[in-house]
Amino acid sequence: MTHTPPRIAPPTRTLMGPGPSDIAPSVLSAMAAPTVGHLDPYFLQVMDEVQTMLRQVFQTENALTFAVSGTGSAGMETCVANLIEPGDKIVVGVNGVFGGRMCDVAERCGAVVTKLERPFGEVFSSEEIEQAVTEVQPKAVALVHAETSTGALQPIEEISKIVHDGGAMLLIDCVTSLGGLPVKIDEWNVDAAYSGTQKCLSCPPGLAPVTFSSLAQEAINNRKTKVQSWYLDTTMLSSYWGSDRAYHHTAPINANYGLHEALRLLLEEGLENRFTRHMENHLALRAGLEALGLNYLVAEEHRLPMLNSVSIPAGADDAAVRKQLLNEFDIEIGGGLGPLKGKAWRIGLMGEASSKSNVLLFLSALEKCLMDQNYALIPGCSIAAANQQFIG
Ligand SMILES: *Cc1c(COP(=O)(O)O)cnc(C)c1O
Repeated sequence: MTHTPPRIAPPTRTLMGPGPSDIAPSVLSAMAAPTVGHLDPYFLQVMDEVQTMLRQVFQTENALTFAVSGTGSAGMETCVANLIEPGDKIVVGVNGVFGGRMCDVAERCGAVVTKLERPFGEVFSSEEIEQAVTEVQPKAVALVHAETSTGALQPIEEISKIVHDGGAMLLIDCVTSLGGLPVKIDEWNVDAAYSGTQKCLSCPPGLAPVTFSSLAQEAINNRKTKVQSWYLDTTMLSSYWGSDRAYHHTAPINANYGLHEALRLLLEEGLENRFTRHMENHLALRAGLEALGLNYLVAEEHRLPMLNSVSIPAGADDAAVRKQLLNEFDIEIGGGLGPLKGKAWRIGLMGEASSKSNVLLFLSALEKCLMDQNYALIPGCSIAAANQQFIG
């Protein structure tokens, strides 16, 4: 006799890590709505509306804008696999885990990869990119806009001009930036970009919004070889998401309901209001963390508002603090990745999770965890500092 497990009953956590982030109740209930057929007229309307809202969020008119059925990494593979043919040259900026992943994906597509490296936490200068573009003459340059593994924000606009002057296309990872920071695909002249639903869009993981410029679409249409991935081939996917509605795969219906609601909430709030909210809560959290003597890993001008990475202070036990936050306060934060393992905490304020109440809750909980470890602090100092910042 096999034993049937009980019905799932997950704990209610406050998700302040590098993703997934807190989900609005209306997004969860949208996902519990009845499943219809994937070619049902109702679902076709949902797909159209998702595409229209994604264009608003990406700030683009790009026709080829849709949600890939898969997580952020599937969005990455979609962009790379469609732009790259075997033997094509690509320059990838690696200043964190996700740039590294992009190199791996590009190599698997047969690209000749030039890895441009920077220490974790730093960003690339226009001069470095210009030099690489001149030397390599690549088909594409790929950069991570918001490096979730380090908390660094890569400026894009000036680099885009350099990349295009050099005859290359620009690909950006905006998994963590979309919905929390301006991502201006058309104004910045970005050729391909991908995101994920579970960071600042505050939707469960499962879909990857992507967008391609007409230049990128032309390059894809002029390929000599088939796209290496059948599942992620935009020449077929565009017939599914476009007016043909040619069956390709069965889109995850309910995941698209969730994204629809998450995008609706975002646009109802307004892009600018949302960016301001992310910034204000970041500044308050930062005031609190600094009052506790915790230092940011990234230089002030390149810090992400939605992902705060700070050095773990001497005398604090990384694993013990994170475990206590989870067990005693139901708060999840992230640890360090790669060379930052054991050295950093990554505190997310993404989408729904970016709230005044989460800032104050987290700081009070962190003070308690640190006091339990006999870390020297003035009780309440971080809360006072954050409130001072909120008051202005
Ligand atoms: C989370 C993340 C990804 C990968 O997304 P998954 O949904 O985990 O597949 C890629 N790039 C960045 C910058 C991310 O933060």
